[in-house]
Amino acid sequence: ATPAILAKAFDVQSVRNDFPILHQEVNGQPLVYLDNAATTQKPNAVIDAISDYYRNINSNVHRGAHSLSDRATEAFEGARETVAEFVNSPKKAQIIWTRGTTEAINLVAHSWGRSNIGAGDKMLVSTLEHHSNIVPWQMLAEEKGASVVPIPISSAGDIDLVAFDALLDATVKMVSVGHVSNALGTVNPIEYIVASAKNVGAKVFVDGAQAVAHFPVDVQSLGCDFYGFSGHKLFGPTGIGVLWGKEELLNAMPPYHGGGEMIESCSFAGTSYNTLPYKFEAGTPDIAGAIGLAAAINYLNQFDRGAIAQHEQDLLVYCHLLAEKCKGLKRVGEAKNIAGVFSFLLDGAHPSDVGMLLDQQGVAVRTGHHCAQPLMEALHIPGTVRASFSIYNTREDVDRLFSALEKVKSFLV
Ligand code: PMP
Repeated sequence: ATPAILAKAFDVQSVRNDFPILHQEVNGQPLVYLDNAATTQKPNAVIDAISDYYRNINSNVHRGAHSLSDRATEAFEGARETVAEFVNSPKKAQIIWTRGTTEAINLVAHSWGRSNIGAGDKMLVSTLEHHSNIVPWQMLAEEKGASVVPIPISSAGDIDLVAFDALLDATVKMVSVGHVSNALGTVNPIEYIVASAKNVGAKVFVDGAQAVAHFPVDVQSLGCDFYGFSGHKLFGPTGIGVLWGKEELLNAMPPYHGGGEMIESCSFAGTSYNTLPYKFEAGTPDIAGAIGLAAAINYLNQFDRGAIAQHEQDLLVYCHLLAEKCKGLKRVGEAKNIAGVFSFLLDGAHPSDVGMLLDQQGVAVRTGHHCAQPLMEALHIPGTVRASFSIYNTREDVDRLFSALEKVKSFLV
């Protein structure tokens, strides 16, 4: 059966019923959760899958010692298969479990980076990046005598592609960019970036932390070399994430962590390493996390992804409409293509005060630099207030945000 036939009609009220945490009061008001870029809430299907694993299956994987271990291994490897299909990986061995996006980037910076970056080489990252897509490259640059060069952005928050192309030459070995900016919501033109980077032989890492929950991702059609994301921003548990990489690159890379599972044989005379993906998975993995993440992907897969994207775009359009009518509100980030994020400032009010007063009215947002200090520096602002949307948000949530903002203004402005 094709997904189109299986797809459930997208009904936001019934989706909300799948997320138990949403049905509570915070500070005496029904919760409006608009901090989805930080982490998403979990549907019953995920909570139940984790609980079922610990109640009925818990055992260590790949030991093959007994039946329970076989069941745990089957569920764990089945989860890898689910992720492989989710991003359209040619092989499931190209799916490496990590703790999240941060660890996926660190793995590549350490393993690929240490053997492929030398003195004088450059790594390009955009000015939009989260610290986790800057600092690992800076650490590598420091060790190797290489440099990290920022790709400029426009005042609207789009990557300046002309400036990007001008930065490319044979000394550029890695281009690492976010698929979607966590601070502004900008959706970056990955295919263009990949095509340009390939012209000079640079590899491309795509930080998909903010993309995978909003629209389908196909690593083959993007053409990138590596793609990383976190389970917890995709309705899955914390502590689990994914690195996808091209097979020939992963095969050529040395291990990241040493330990159990990642060896083929170990002796004091010398140790040989396991094949993909186990070479990169030393130690007992987050088995429950992987199973929980697969449950999250299966949950998402019941819906027509296009309908979800449309629902979230509708919320953004509605939000922008109300923003225009809200005196003293200034949007931050007006890129051509935005997913899930509404960043703004209120004249005369500090973002953290706005956030605190919204919280008192039951509206959860994030304030500050959003782990993107270089971006805030480039925009000459200390931070923003960020409302970020997910499948379970409604127009009523947007109404609540703006009526709460009117109250905030009456206190602060
Ligand atoms: N990149 C982006 C764009 C993010 O939004 C985040 C999380 N805020 C990360 C990387 C890091 O993800 P994690 O903390 O789950 O490793």
